[in-house]
Amino acid sequence: MDQSHEQINSKHTIEPHVLMFPIPFQGPVNCFLKLAELLCLSGIHVTFLNTQHIHRPLLRHTEVLSRFSRYPNFRFETIPDGVEHETPVSVDRFLEVMAGVDVVTKPLFREMMVSGRFSWESERPVTVMIPDAYFSFAVDVAKEASVPVICFETVSPCCLWTSYLNLPTLIEAGDVPFKGNDLDELITSIPGTEQIIRRRDLASQCRSTDMSSQSIELIVKEAHAVPEAQGLILNTFEELDSLILKHMRKLCPNIYTIGPLHTLHKAQLTANTNPLQENNFSNSVWKEDRTCMSWLDEHDPKTVLYISIGSLATMTIDQLVEIWYGVINSGTPFLWVRRPGSIIGGYDESQVPDELLARTKEIGCIVEWAPQEDVLAHPAIGGFLTHSGWNSTMESITQGIPMVCWPNFVDQQVNSRFVEEVWKVGVDIKDTCDRLQVEKAVRDIMDSKRNVYTQSANTWANLAKESITKTGSSSIHLARLIDDILAMSLTQP
Ligand code: UDP
Repeated sequence: MDQSHEQINSKHTIEPHVLMFPIPFQGPVNCFLKLAELLCLSGIHVTFLNTQHIHRPLLRHTEVLSRFSRYPNFRFETIPDGVEHETPVSVDRFLEVMAGVDVVTKPLFREMMVSGRFSWESERPVTVMIPDAYFSFAVDVAKEASVPVICFETVSPCCLWTSYLNLPTLIEAGDVPFKGNDLDELITSIPGTEQIIRRRDLASQCRSTDMSSQSIELIVKEAHAVPEAQGLILNTFEELDSLILKHMRKLCPNIYTIGPLHTLHKAQLTANTNPLQENNFSNSVWKEDRTCMSWLDEHDPKTVLYISIGSLATMTIDQLVEIWYGVINSGTPFLWVRRPGSIIGGYDESQVPDELLARTKEIGCIVEWAPQEDVLAHPAIGGFLTHSGWNSTMESITQGIPMVCWPNFVDQQVNSRFVEEVWKVGVDIKDTCDRLQVEKAVRDIMDSKRNVYTQSANTWANLAKESITKTGSSSIHLARLIDDILAMSLTQP
């Protein structure tokens, strides 16, 4: 990678300078930081723009500042977003955050970009912008400022294709909003998924009856903006999404598949840094509780169920108790992440039957936030009861861990369908969390159908490993992304 840095310096009068702009939530910020580090390793200058609301907890709970101080070509910038909360918000405030971005961040961002505020020491203007695809306004601003833009989509490609890029078509065809109540009706108008996606498997926003709502408006804007960008970065690998990538490329020809990003990042960091250097860092906006790792050490291989609903999803106390009963009745030891704020109305132990609490002391471990990548890599983990967030899904697939999917919102509805129907690595129990169903699904992945799920999970895990080798598809796509950033920077006026 040092070599490409030299190339940059010898060829360029204007040095490549990427402005990265994630949406202010745990998953996207984590992915953007990993990609930022990969770009820094290749010698590209990176300005990482966080909104203030997410930057505060990131600094509080991680070592990002000291870690990125290794890279003189990296710097953080922050921008106000009008959100006052000191802790990261849950999904109920998602639209509030996006509204704050719309009112406060968007005009400031435009002003900062057009006035050249992001130029580094004034002689280093931004040469390429990489915003989250959800920030469609950033594509408009980039065009206005004549800066090439490459969108980074941090939701899953299957969601992007079925429910975002195709949403205008679905609305035009009268498929969305749904007519009648049959959620099991197949959606046949999306190329590639005609026999797979039912109404209930589209992104949660598609269940809305109000096509002028803020959430629908955000997707429609994104559907128009993404194909206008010079490129699209996806956290997947070619084999995993071959079903839809060929269709997506007709609309967005320049796609970079650089996933699984977390393992590609780890592999490149190991290959390009001093072997004595500590590379196992967290980008968590909650404090990680690592005590669960020693609890896992006490268990036999593949015997523990890991349970987490990610950084935004929530559940009611009734849903918590149903899932809890299902897991306890399956007899499976479990490690459960209960993020502060994830129980709607707060967690009240008096509403939990004593028998659940007593049995949990025997076979369970509960933490507020776990080092998830390390947890999923631990030999004791045999299954993952997940909300099917895209990062969690990729992290599980990479480790060959079968899943029980209980999706909550956005892309999770689509991901869980793909987990069951396309990749065949788990059970989708969307729209229910009845204790009997949870128990059966957990027994299926941990025991009765374990061999079937593990076989396909291992196949995908091996393909994921293959994709990040030196000659693997994701490494090649990352190298092409870096080359293209250099080329785009050369053509700057
Ligand atoms: N995560 C973590 N510790 C936890 C729970 C989640 O580090 O206790 C991380 C997880 O590894 C993943 C991210 O948080 O990278 C969650 O992203 P995902 O896309 O799965 O779901 P979201 O939080 O965006 O709904």
